[in-house]
Amino acid sequence: LTTTDLVEDHRISVSVRKRPFNGKELKVKDIDVITIPSEDVVLVHEPKQKVDLTPFLENHTFRFDRAFDDSATNEMVYRSTARPLVETIFEGGMATCFAYGQTGSGKTHTMGGDFSGKNQNCSKGIYALAAEDVFLMLKKPEYKKLDLQVYAAFSEIYNDKVFDLLNQKAALRVLDDRMKQAHVVGLKEREVKCTEDILKLIGMGNSCRAIGQNAVNAHSSRSHAIFDIILRSKGKLHGKLSLIDLAGNERAADTCTANRQTQTEGGEINKSLLTLKECIRAMNHKAPHAPFRDSLLTRILKNSLVGENSRTCMIVTISPGMASSQSTLDTLKFADRYFKY
Ligand code: ADP
Ligand code: MG
Repeated sequence: LTTTDLVEDHRISVSVRKRPFNGKELKVKDIDVITIPSEDVVLVHEPKQKVDLTPFLENHTFRFDRAFDDSATNEMVYRSTARPLVETIFEGGMATCFAYGQTGSGKTHTMGGDFSGKNQNCSKGIYALAAEDVFLMLKKPEYKKLDLQVYAAFSEIYNDKVFDLLNQKAALRVLDDRMKQAHVVGLKEREVKCTEDILKLIGMGNSCRAIGQNAVNAHSSRSHAIFDIILRSKGKLHGKLSLIDLAGNERAADTCTANRQTQTEGGEINKSLLTLKECIRAMNHKAPHAPFRDSLLTRILKNSLVGENSRTCMIVTISPGMASSQSTLDTLKFADRYFKY
């Protein structure tokens, strides 16, 4: 494909966020192999060996809509990724924001914030920051007159099934309407009046996510979490923002491991992430056929991805260390394919 095949489309944006080193990486003195030299460029210094075994670094350059260094805060990332999507839903559109990356690269930190700390001042993630803006926007005169109510829903896709995280993980059915748009039947929507309400629901959903699992992280790396902020006017849908913490992309490669459960999980994750990529690529290229039907994730999100007034953003999270460099390269190559140069 050449530059001219790609349609300049501001409806899709792809940003990259590098996380800082964690304690464990600092302890083993892992080496930083990621440089962000400007606001839209990511360099990966891949460790390699010559035939005579002399080590050297091969540099790879990637360009995205935005690249965030490890000093960026959730607020900074939010402002140039999901923030414009909040405006979209007030204008009556549908929007989707994905966090994509390896387990441990910062997806949940970016989307859900950090509630793990023992101190009270948890850091707000995109769910909460978007919610805050929604309540601010509601007060604007031009939107006040629409008499909008705000609702939230929180669900999880695991092994090609949808579960309601605000209703004891009830398994939900997905049915198509006459327009072949899939609907999650019976997903609970809670009305929310302030950011506090949203934070409570996030906490509730997160603890629900962990039920029956020995470790939240192990489970969340295998499932997609979807947090919806919904605007309704007299009960009628006005706009919807879906904020999605995707399954760890390394799971996609897990398909040949011995364990059967892991195999099935890996297969499903593989299918949904690859389908998502194909769909976004088709959208980017204004291709007539996108394989939305091929995975539950894309079936459910179809309206939000291709609607008349829809917008999508992808936040690609990466680890800084040399130990992760191979999967970081895979992640960036995956995201790079549908970037328009
Ligand atoms: P993922 O959801 O992709 O598996 P997490 O969001 O759970 O990854 O991040 C792994 C760890 O790194 C967590 O302890 C998290 O608090 C920390 N972390 C991730 N991103 C950042 C960041 N930008 N700043 C500080 N800590 C971070
Ligand atoms: Mg996570």
